[in-house]
Amino acid sequence: MTQQTEHVKCLIIGSGPAGYTAAIYAARADLKPVLYTGMTPGGQLTETTEVDNFPGYPKGITGPELMEDLKAQAERFGTQVRFGLATKADLKANPKKIWIDENIEITADTVIISTGASAKWIGLPNETRLRMNAGGVSACAVCDGFFYRGQDVAIVGAGDTAAEEATYLSKLCKKVYMIVRRSEMRASKAMQHRVTNTPNIEILWDSETEDILGENVVEGVVVKNNKTNELRTLNVTGFFVAIGHKPNTDIFKGQLNMDDLGYIDVAGMSSKTNIEGVFAVGDCADKTYRQAVTAAGSGCMGALDAERYLAASGNH
Ligand code: NDP
Repeated sequence: MTQQTEHVKCLIIGSGPAGYTAAIYAARADLKPVLYTGMTPGGQLTETTEVDNFPGYPKGITGPELMEDLKAQAERFGTQVRFGLATKADLKANPKKIWIDENIEITADTVIISTGASAKWIGLPNETRLRMNAGGVSACAVCDGFFYRGQDVAIVGAGDTAAEEATYLSKLCKKVYMIVRRSEMRASKAMQHRVTNTPNIEILWDSETEDILGENVVEGVVVKNNKTNELRTLNVTGFFVAIGHKPNTDIFKGQLNMDDLGYIDVAGMSSKTNIEGVFAVGDCADKTYRQAVTAAGSGCMGALDAERYLAASGNH
């Protein structure tokens, strides 16, 4: 049951680099943005340790610190940052309607969707434990590969992301084991060739991860061949998971145009969706780059697109 209704000029859903950057720009443009954080304030970066590739931090910064800085910057210009999860949407209504935590109804002239994507995990208990302790389990080779320079690592997955990340890791690491659960790869032929032509990548076909060893950090990975049941222990210090991401866009299905994986379609080099006044930024609309800095850049685009839309419709 709806308990509260409020109208806002610019509603931002999601609190990763895309959402906070949209908020900084929207607040400075006097759109008086209200940002709902979702269940993980700060988004995916709060689950990583060092961020060394965000421009402006020559000594690096931790993911949580970076997100606190972005939040403080958005609040400095008047963004209202609130904890809450968008649970339902009627974007075709005029004004657009979004429900937060089931019972708060927000009507909005513009909506900037920055709900991000979540990495998929295998689901092994030791994977979760070591991931939470920043102990060498990662879903982003570009973010974390650097920490394993000269070491041996393993990567799970056989799609384009896994192939791309295995190739990336092979340039930094001594050896990369690629754990593939079938006897073929889903990745494009070109990506497969790149992997198979890289001497320090060893592909383990028909193989599944049985366990990840190590108390505080990864000390090895046990792999089982699902044809022979043979077990093999890989002496690795890093374990990368690249089995796909899921964009957090379920509540917009049937309203916004999306690809078959759920990434929101935007028009050309813009953040415009198929519904006027609704903009999608960051990883929920980007399956290719998925970097904090590209998400931040698209957040800026979302705010500028929202401001121009409001100006053109005489609302600003
Ligand atoms: P995909 O869904 O394409 O591939 C996921 C891979 O992970 C599959 O090989 C799958 O195996 C494997 N997998 C899934 N679950 C498990 C599990 N529990 N244990 C072990 N392996 C598992 O995801 P991607 O992230 O690779 O790609 C997503 C989309 O982005 C694709 O359309 C891709 O083409 C695109 N992309 C394009 C790039 C480019 O063009 N440069 C770069 C990166 C991504 P199985 O094959 O057996 O199902």
